[in-house]
Amino acid sequence: MASQINATEFPGNIINNQFVPTPKTRHSINPSTGEPLYEVPYSTQEDVDAAVKHARTAFKSWSKVPFQERSRLLLAYADALSAQRSPLEKLLVQEQGKPLELAKTEFDMSIDWLRKFATMEVKDEVLDENEERTVIQTFSPIGVCCGIVPWNWPVLLGLAKVGPALITGNTVIIKPSPFTPYCDLKLGEIGMSIFPPGVFQVLSGGDDLGPMLTEHPDIDKIAFTGSSATGKLVMQSCAKTLKRLTLELGGNDPAIVCEDVDIDAIVPKITTLAFLNSGQICMLIKRVYIHEKIYDKFRDAMVAFAKSIKTGDGFEPDVVVGPIQNSMQFEKVKDMYSEIGKRSWKQALEGQVFKDSKGYFISPAIIDNPPEDSRIVVEEPFGPIVPLLKWSDEDDVIERANHGKSGLGASVWSKDLDRAERLARCLSAGSVWINSHFDVAPNVPFGGHKWSGIGSEFGMAGLKLCCNSTSLWKWKNVM
Ligand code: NAD
Repeated sequence: MASQINATEFPGNIINNQFVPTPKTRHSINPSTGEPLYEVPYSTQEDVDAAVKHARTAFKSWSKVPFQERSRLLLAYADALSAQRSPLEKLLVQEQGKPLELAKTEFDMSIDWLRKFATMEVKDEVLDENEERTVIQTFSPIGVCCGIVPWNWPVLLGLAKVGPALITGNTVIIKPSPFTPYCDLKLGEIGMSIFPPGVFQVLSGGDDLGPMLTEHPDIDKIAFTGSSATGKLVMQSCAKTLKRLTLELGGNDPAIVCEDVDIDAIVPKITTLAFLNSGQICMLIKRVYIHEKIYDKFRDAMVAFAKSIKTGDGFEPDVVVGPIQNSMQFEKVKDMYSEIGKRSWKQALEGQVFKDSKGYFISPAIIDNPPEDSRIVVEEPFGPIVPLLKWSDEDDVIERANHGKSGLGASVWSKDLDRAERLARCLSAGSVWINSHFDVAPNVPFGGHKWSGIGSEFGMAGLKLCCNSTSLWKWKNVM
């Protein structure tokens, strides 16, 4: 077992490079044990106002710091995080529930991404030039950015908002999910010794904190990651002050498997990409469309592989599926599992709720060719349950894959790369993979079609959405 967190530790919010305690506190639960973790701040409107005021003040000087210096500080921050990552990885397992190996992957990715963001300079672009004039597009930082983070990848999704905001010259306030505030507060704490006061702040709180931030008249941009339902509330709230906004929302990703694949080679990958993080990732495989010629063989291989996947506490060796992160989500997933009996869906693999455990454990379930309009096909379950569906006609499977309001990711699996690309280009999703799924990188834009999001994060396209664009018309001859 990991060393336990100091249960009395309560440093406070990170405001203007100070620990600022709040009169009221709150805590979350370790989802593997049901035990409470230590107390963290419960922010009020005064805390929000103070952080925003300091962020505004800091913006005046931070926005003028040259790129090379911002880059140096971001790299120094990545080094500091790297030096302190080991206890934080364990803290991540305790608060989020994911297996320790996956927590390590989340830190690997976060640190690599910060280092990559540190190299990404948004430069002026010359749009038109002739003897008389030059038109240049310039990019200046927007101002005070706020990142609202979900509970499934609190470290990566937090830092993937911090890096782009800071490297483009904005100041940033991070608001973690109330279910996973611990690592994000520590990320802010590490930043205190690196960045000038007010540049990177973290506020923890309850359900009322998000709306306080989206309503705030002195915040210029919200970068939100979470569910489509909350995304709509965020957009509504931001409209009042015409805040800039990026929304990274839910997904219901299809994977289309053609009849020519090497089943033994791809089954482990597809199965893992359905159940990783207990199915609690926006862009996991959530519907598997398998060509009817190989359906039975593929299903049986997938069931055999899924049976080898261990469910349990993230500190136990070889665990792949940890607990569901919180009781609310656990109830939602159990409700989906309860549909199996009610709707008479066939189970290729029966999922089990661990009734004797205080943790929120439920093992993977595979549903065998349910009706296309069933809840397990049309809704994002955000748990370790996946439907397998048959297809035979390309146009039909594309229509089924594109059906619905989600458009985050999609994949095509085939040895015939021309055919795979032809199908891939018909899919309506922000990321489309051929013979893979879930690839994501700091220099590649990520976003969703339809109700899966607005705008994009990462890549130059994402960094530009942390900036205001100006078209600078420069006439060469003075009249
Ligand atoms: P959620 O929408 O419940 O919460 C996300 C964040 O929003 C939390 O910090 C929460 O406290 C805050 N919030 C809640 N109500 C708010 C309001 N009215 N105003 C402002 N902020 C508010 O989502 P979740 O349950 O934490 O995460 C799961 C969902 O997130 C899934 O649908 C998943 O697909 C999606 N997700 C999307 C991406 C992506 O990049 N597209 C990544 C991860 C998760």
